Amino acid sequence: MSNHPVQPKLIIHGGAGSSLKGKGGAEAVRKSLYHIVETVYEQLLRGSSSKDAVILGCQLLEDDPRFNAGTGSVLQSDGQVRMSASLMDGASQRFSGVINVSRLKNPIYLAQFLQDSADRVLSDYGAAQLLRELNIPTHDPLTDLRLQEWIQERAGNFNKDMAGVIAEAELADSAGRGTIGVVALDQAGHVAAGTSTGGKGFERIGRVSDSAMPAGNYANAWAGISCTGIGEDIIDECLAARIVVRVTDGASLEDAFHRSFVESQQHQRDLGAIGVAQSGAIAWGKTSEILLAAYHNGESIGDTLELPEGMQTGSC
Ligand code: ASP
Repeated sequence: MSNHPVQPKLIIHGGAGSSLKGKGGAEAVRKSLYHIVETVYEQLLRGSSSKDAVILGCQLLEDDPRFNAGTGSVLQSDGQVRMSASLMDGASQRFSGVINVSRLKNPIYLAQFLQDSADRVLSDYGAAQLLRELNIPTHDPLTDLRLQEWIQERAGNFNKDMAGVIAEAELADSAGRGTIGVVALDQAGHVAAGTSTGGKGFERIGRVSDSAMPAGNYANAWAGISCTGIGEDIIDECLAARIVVRVTDGASLEDAFHRSFVESQQHQRDLGAIGVAQSGAIAWGKTSEILLAAYHNGESIGDTLELPEGMQTGSC
């Protein structure tokens, strides 16, 4: 590392999915995202590692009941909340995560603990056992709004592909996605990525989300990526790892996003992603209608809330 600290970079997301138009959602979502971007960016400026900044960002997004992760997670077909989260530290190129864990406030903390464990990805039963071992207090992440959504969906026999991207007071027509993610570059030039989700919503018990797989969350020394959208589509594209490998092999982050999203579009996938490269580039992409992302590039804060419909990629 040179003596000059690198300028930190940060991008976060609160999911991808269908339009927020007419739901009074965009301004409220922007406010939530900007507040978290500002808090986490300040921590990066104080010298925090990208890994710690990602954990803080994920925790704040998990605690916001608007987003489908932690408190405010959507319910599965049997009316239970099961959450998945992962953390990848680019400096050590180490992935850790939990799959389908219940009754806790911040799944990202389990992923954090597992970074230094010999067994780094735990699923439901093992994750519950770890919660007890660590004496993590029990927490019910269920909100009234998500319960109402589930009751409404049950009446329609769960005919939606996914739950609403954002918990809305106005429930009708809220089909979309959820999930949260954070990718950061710290002053030492290290990248990290974290992703956390309540899943697609209304899914079969035991369904595994991309969010705790390298397909949905991946980082190395060159770049970090967090994905959102239909998990099956993200897994089929192996999207996070695919973009990171392209950057590792010499593509710019912008090109890696563009090529990967052109392919995703050709394959008719429904997804989105955010990323940061060691070069300092920040990028985003989507094939879904909207992507709820916000970033800090060291100069200013921006967001992707009003991108045109259809496939889009962008960078700064
Ligand atoms: N990718 C998540 C899943 O399929 C859902 C989402 O991003 O909203 O579990």
